[in-house]
Amino acid sequence: MKNAFLEMPDKNGYFGEYGGQIIPPPLIDIMNEINDAYEQVIQTASFQEELQQLYTDYVGRPSPVYFAKRLSEKQGGARIFLKREDLNHTGAHKINHCLGEALLAKYMGKTKVLAETGAGQHGVALATACALVGIECEIHMGEVDMVKEHPNVTRMKILGCNLVPVTRGTKTLKDAVDSAFEEYLKDPVNYIYAIGSVVGPHPFPKIVRDFQSIVGKEAREQFLARENKLPDVLVACVGGGCNAIGLFTAFLDDDAVKMIGVEPAGKGLDTAEHAATLTLGTKGAIHGFECYTIQDKEGNPLPVYSIASGLDYPGVGPQHCYLKDIKRVVYETIDDKECLDAFMQLSRLEGIIPALESAHAVAHAMKIAKDMSSEETILVNLSGRGDKDADFVANYLSL
Ligand SMILES: *Cc1c(COP(=O)(O)O)cnc(C)c1O
Repeated sequence: MKNAFLEMPDKNGYFGEYGGQIIPPPLIDIMNEINDAYEQVIQTASFQEELQQLYTDYVGRPSPVYFAKRLSEKQGGARIFLKREDLNHTGAHKINHCLGEALLAKYMGKTKVLAETGAGQHGVALATACALVGIECEIHMGEVDMVKEHPNVTRMKILGCNLVPVTRGTKTLKDAVDSAFEEYLKDPVNYIYAIGSVVGPHPFPKIVRDFQSIVGKEAREQFLARENKLPDVLVACVGGGCNAIGLFTAFLDDDAVKMIGVEPAGKGLDTAEHAATLTLGTKGAIHGFECYTIQDKEGNPLPVYSIASGLDYPGVGPQHCYLKDIKRVVYETIDDKECLDAFMQLSRLEGIIPALESAHAVAHAMKIAKDMSSEETILVNLSGRGDKDADFVANYLSL
């Protein structure tokens, strides 16, 4: 069956009215070259074989679909299943597109892969992929984040990337983006910028989606083989939106499958401390593309917040904006408290410590399961493991 949604974006990089290339003309040329090279390279057997082999032998794919029996029984109602991306090498879904991007860089003959990182998750996944592929990697990270996320800083150093501390501005993610991008612009012919989610200018929302779509492709087959039917509802957390689009893509043509993206309500939608971009944002431009954003009246991004640092982004992938507008995907929110409750419940009922990001999706599944019948099923993308959050949660809850 042909998945009509895979025809998107259009040739200018638009999903409906979102996406595009809101960047200076010389950069548009460079992005279009990346797009052309990508379209060529991914069709070669050698690239596909190398990537598939690495997914199998290195990442440990396919990741299992697991029936969370005790969690389901506790809630009553629908049965809850987990797509275990937390079991991937490096502990999350990010390795899926970082490997793709590093391989693409190698096939394109690039000499250096550049990126920013906030909490360090993208940085670690990319440094891992670059070490494996054997290509130079440079990661820019705000000094404030480096102090907060020390274990990831150590990992990146061990993995051999060039970690550049960013000391300007607020010394956090936004400044790291600016700093890494300036370095990239010094030699965009030989360097490549590896974006960490389905965001940024065209073609990155497409490239990252394509690499992540392995998640849904596997899950659809696994679920059919095991249950003889498709899940009734898919649930995934949404930061930039790549784990969600990764799960959703293979099911977009299955009209009976309902899809829910879960955004962080943080300390409440009625406070300024949330990152519910699709729920409360308005159309704007950020980091080279058009999407729903949390912005002030002049169009400047406003600070966002989530207890899960991987979800606190003021923009969101353009395809999600489109899927919201056409009502193919529904976007809901979960606050910090509900997230922490799900984090503890999954840990104690299933022996699975989820990432705080993924716990948002688990929380929403728990919420809706109660009102569904025992014949119905929910498939949650468990995007990552929670080792990185364990100390924080233990302190926060005074365990
Ligand atoms: C980075 C991250 C996310 C958020 O990113 P998306 O692009 O929305 O998937 C979610 N879960 C985990 C575990 C992460 O590391």
